[in-house]
Amino acid sequence: MSRREDIASALRSVRDRLDAACRAAGRDPAAVAMLPVTKFFPVSDVHILYELGCREFGESREPEASTKVAEFRTTGASPDEVRWHMIGRLQRNKVKSVVRWADVVHSADSSRLVDTLDAAVADSIEAGGRTRRLDVLLQVSLDADPARGGVPVAELAALADRVESAPSLNFRGLMAVPPLDSDPARAFEQLAAVHADLLRTHPRATELSAGMTGDLEAAVAHGSTCVRVGTALLGSRPIASK
Ligand SMILES: *Cc1c(COP(=O)(O)O)cnc(C)c1O
Repeated sequence: MSRREDIASALRSVRDRLDAACRAAGRDPAAVAMLPVTKFFPVSDVHILYELGCREFGESREPEASTKVAEFRTTGASPDEVRWHMIGRLQRNKVKSVVRWADVVHSADSSRLVDTLDAAVADSIEAGGRTRRLDVLLQVSLDADPARGGVPVAELAALADRVESAPSLNFRGLMAVPPLDSDPARAFEQLAAVHADLLRTHPRATELSAGMTGDLEAAVAHGSTCVRVGTALLGSRPIASK
């Protein structure tokens, strides 16, 4: 089979899985977005996904993402047609390049990072590098392990206020990755409770980015509005990837 046929068939399978998960959870499939994650894969795969109807893509590493998005923009659709999501761990020294391509960041997790993003987006708009504010999700740490990123639940409300008051950012919701060796269903249940709590004070933060290839059903059962899918669409990545 050609790469295009492989990806088309994988895309159908993922959509079927997602539909089944929504049915099982009594949810409308239109309420759960599927974000293809293209990290480690070439821009030719992004083109194939685009031709198959995908309009949003997730990337997680610099400078790979900057290079790929620039390539896609010279050969592909107009930038207004496609939205790029930064879903990986974000260091402050990468923020300047990330705001050149990202429409959404899923992984904001500290006040210093939020302030840096806000300032960099303002600069980029001023310089004509981008036209829109940045949509921001806060990554929640469900086990408070600082090595894996995410804001501890106890600090979430204060950080949410900070994003909401940042002039160049739109606060959209939460993201999480289940802790290593955890039961994903329990982790997503905990995340759903944290999200419900947050919605009481930040009613516009409706997005919940949760679920990947291995655990999307559990995430959908607990309110995910966006599953981030790499392996099931494009195949396995090198072992050292994260
Ligand atoms: C790579 C990555 C994914 C995709 O994971 P798969 O298991 O390949 O579907 C999702 N979320 C984040 C944050 C990632 O870095």
